[in-house]
Amino acid sequence: MSKPCILCVAITGSLPTKANNPAVPITVSEQVESTHEAFEAGAAICHAHVRNDDQTPSSDPEKFARLKEGLEAHCPGMIIQFSTGGRSGAGQERGGMLPLRPDMASLSVGSNNFPTRVYENPPDLVDWLADEMRTHEVMPEIEAFDLSHILQAIRMHREEKLYGKLYVQFVMGVKNAMPADQTVFDFYVETMRSRAPEAEWCAAGIGANQIVVNEWAIAAGGHTRAGLEDNVRLDRDTLAPSNAALIRRAAELCARYERPVATPAQARRMLGLRPAT
Ligand SMILES: [Zn+2]
Repeated sequence: MSKPCILCVAITGSLPTKANNPAVPITVSEQVESTHEAFEAGAAICHAHVRNDDQTPSSDPEKFARLKEGLEAHCPGMIIQFSTGGRSGAGQERGGMLPLRPDMASLSVGSNNFPTRVYENPPDLVDWLADEMRTHEVMPEIEAFDLSHILQAIRMHREEKLYGKLYVQFVMGVKNAMPADQTVFDFYVETMRSRAPEAEWCAAGIGANQIVVNEWAIAAGGHTRAGLEDNVRLDRDTLAPSNAALIRRAAELCARYERPVATPAQARRMLGLRPAT
């Protein structure tokens, strides 16, 4: 049997609003319902940001706590991953939810440009977030917007600054950062294979690149992410009706490449995470 593929659903993000797609879940109860549907479609990891009621990004630990409680109740065993990304807060606010001990949290280890600003991740903040994750036993998922971020993650893992197994996500297609380029993607994969053979990796594409990068990752033996955070459309003319619809599309690709979709328990084993409580 070929290696199971872990599907991660990125449910909300900090940018898309209901004006972009009414299916974007904003309140905690919408988030739980949308995740549950994606969970039933095969998602093993939920990558989540939280929002204020006016849809602006939030870093309120109380909202993260309610989300965690809802996901644990409705999606048993699913891996919960909170975002420490920079749009939802400034400085150490970004890690304010880590004491809740989600299974995982995203971690950016370098800076780059985003569509309208600098995505700033200074070394002292990166080290502080990585330390907090170690303290609370939260496994980071490294968000690599550039090759240098992959190399930095491998270095930090070797220096034992990262809790648990090394898990790197290649993010491609963010405007002003790394485009979705297959030659670069292949080099990323080769870099992981040669320099961190024990690690696992996954990949995400933004906008119309979502399905393209899903296919590259599934074909190359990695894991992949889909969901409304990264892409609100099925194609140029059709809005995605739900997060589940985007996960179903990735699951169909897994079937085409004869990759079983990983159950949450299989995903936990592959990533070396603690069993669900
Ligand atoms: Zn995110």
